[in-house]
Amino acid sequence: MSDHYVKATVQLEQMKSLDENAEKEGEHPEEQMPVSPPPASLSPDPSSITIADTSSTCKQGSNRGKNRNKSGKDDKNSCGKHITDNVGKNLNRLGHEQALHIKGAGRILQGKLETNGNYVTLHSSKNTQDTRREDGFKQAKKRRPVAVDSSKAKTSLEALKQSIKQLKWKEFPLGRRTACDIYWHGVSFHDNEHIVSGQVNKFPGMIEMLRKINLSRAMRTMQELFPEEYDFYPRSWILPEEYQQFSTQIRMVKENDATVTTTFIVKPDGGSQGDGIYLIRDPSDLKLMTATQAKQAVVQEYIQKPLLIDKLKFDIRLYVLIKSMEPLEIYIAKEGLTRFCTEPYQEPSQKNLSHVFMHLTNYSLNVHSGNFIHSDSQNTGSKRTLSSVLYRLAAKGVDIKKVWSDIIALVIKTVIAVVPELKVYYQADIPPGKPGPTCFQILGFDILLMKNLKPVLLEVNSNPSMRIEHEQEVAPGVFEYVPSPVDEEVKVGVIRDTLRLMDPGHKMPSISHLRAGGFEHGEEIPIEAETQDKTQDQGGALPSMCLKQVYPKYTKQFNYLRLVERIAALFIRFLGVKGNMRLGPTAFRTFIRTCKLSNSNFTMASVDILYIDITRRWSGAMSDSKEAGMGLQAFVEAFFYLAGRRFKSLVLKEQVLSLLELCEAQLESQLGVEDRRSASCSRALPRAVKPQTVGVTNPLLGSPAPLRRASSQDYRLHQRLKPRTLRSNVEN
Ligand code: ADP
Repeated sequence: MSDHYVKATVQLEQMKSLDENAEKEGEHPEEQMPVSPPPASLSPDPSSITIADTSSTCKQGSNRGKNRNKSGKDDKNSCGKHITDNVGKNLNRLGHEQALHIKGAGRILQGKLETNGNYVTLHSSKNTQDTRREDGFKQAKKRRPVAVDSSKAKTSLEALKQSIKQLKWKEFPLGRRTACDIYWHGVSFHDNEHIVSGQVNKFPGMIEMLRKINLSRAMRTMQELFPEEYDFYPRSWILPEEYQQFSTQIRMVKENDATVTTTFIVKPDGGSQGDGIYLIRDPSDLKLMTATQAKQAVVQEYIQKPLLIDKLKFDIRLYVLIKSMEPLEIYIAKEGLTRFCTEPYQEPSQKNLSHVFMHLTNYSLNVHSGNFIHSDSQNTGSKRTLSSVLYRLAAKGVDIKKVWSDIIALVIKTVIAVVPELKVYYQADIPPGKPGPTCFQILGFDILLMKNLKPVLLEVNSNPSMRIEHEQEVAPGVFEYVPSPVDEEVKVGVIRDTLRLMDPGHKMPSISHLRAGGFEHGEEIPIEAETQDKTQDQGGALPSMCLKQVYPKYTKQFNYLRLVERIAALFIRFLGVKGNMRLGPTAFRTFIRTCKLSNSNFTMASVDILYIDITRRWSGAMSDSKEAGMGLQAFVEAFFYLAGRRFKSLVLKEQVLSLLELCEAQLESQLGVEDRRSASCSRALPRAVKPQTVGVTNPLLGSPAPLRRASSQDYRLHQRLKPRTLRSNVEN
């Protein structure tokens, strides 16, 4: 049996059994929400409340405990022993044991995660003895505590230290000469340079991607494709480039109805902690210039009717872990924070527009108000746990299950919006085939609940504060950092459980890693990944996992939204030079030619004009960028334009989908030709370098079309027809 055949058989077996489970898992994201009752003295009647999920914790222990137990015996987890959940078995089969028995073949395959974690090579062991020897080696390896480099942790250091201690792992506060398993960076992927293995808690490009302007652009692209699905992000304009559109639209609204008084919030692009934010009611109030240059900012519709508690506006800080980008794995922390304003809320009026303690929920601002309450309780004060707030709402009869599932949907959709560009950054920093670390990242989602309970996304922080102390005036004029119980409760849990999920001793190849194509569009194989709870790992001392997997768990509901990611895969495929993030004119022509998009009505001369027109406009918009050429956002615009030209009668998302299918089919047929060619000269060209050219096994370079087609069929099941969205100001 050839290796290729063995691989395929294994994959098929795994897919089949996981598909069965997928059927059970992919239901509506109606989750057990985090609700914690306050202490008895404060509690409303607890009988009216749904209390958080504990059953999943039982499952978790059962699946993950075994291998970590030093004695080698099964865990004495109170629930773990009794659960024989299928998903867990599959996980064990796939990653935990990493040994796959092929039915009828009597062979053992060994799955291996490469240093950069993105690829898995399956190779057959010579015999079972070898496998046992390797297993023994692995056991010995597992006993070594996980090494964490905390030298660049900055303000998250204290929470990280506590987490490492709880896990009984080993911290290297000054780093170490030999490689660590995990590098914890306080700011960016580049805090430590030259990491070639292990895992880093930051993705390259995340800071850039989540700046206010870039996030707004990514959300807008999704709003154009899927206006209903992305209506949780307030209408936004990018300044200064869209000043004209902004003022024209506002003027038109006012002309139609003079009584309408909309308020807008202006946020500087690179700002954080409320810095430089102000409210306006008229475009003429915009402060468009700094001393030397035009201000880059986002102006956004202000949510005038937020949900209030104790008459105060508040927002939610939700921690979200992107465990992996390829395949996409998202976890949400069941516990978060809520930050309260310190002045009772009133709807905006000309008089109160400048009252920051009324309108802005930032801790960093409100802490300076005389009314800020530092509280030891998690249910009172100006910063509370999310669960205590949900508890309050539940007690008032609010359907918090619905609120929670809306929040999960918002998170998944937002991540789907930013992933395409992140992939471009990723391949530039960690080119396929080169050794590099894998990445994961905790993000801070700021979410506002409207009075009607609809969650609205305010922003996503690439570096949410993980500080667990706050400044306090211990004597007049003397400030000290003192522990903040609420922060500690939430943030240590998030960091500790992130580490548990990233534990290299327990890392398992994800399903799509095991596939030839690598890319996982259309795969609907939810993994109940909270099965990774290792409550018993450290002598049973750890609390249950606070992180809950939501993707790929809800792949079925959201996969159809991943269209731009497929455009990004095309873009990356034609980028060519490693480290590049922009497409040159020749590469753009090659894309058009390869995908056979030009014809007598759309000549290569028109292609060049299109390229120049769009690239020029975007290079004006991206004033901070030094690199010439067409970036992903510009390419997406060009793609939408081409799709509109070709499939005139369809709505935008269908146009885009149709063009994607066409391009992918062309590439697939090219692939066939290249495959045949390379088979005939395989001795001359080592197989390992081939993905660079044709993008077969490199997940960043796209997938074979059959997989993609599965996802588009999936898309069709979900689509609802909508009137055509107009886009593109390129002349037809
Ligand atoms: P920063 O990064 O400076 O904190 P945010 O976008 O989080 O910027 O905005 C700061 C605060 O302003 C938020 O915490 C929230 O209280 C308020 N805010 C932001 N956007 C809106 C909006 N569209 N509607 C209502 N309030 C908003």
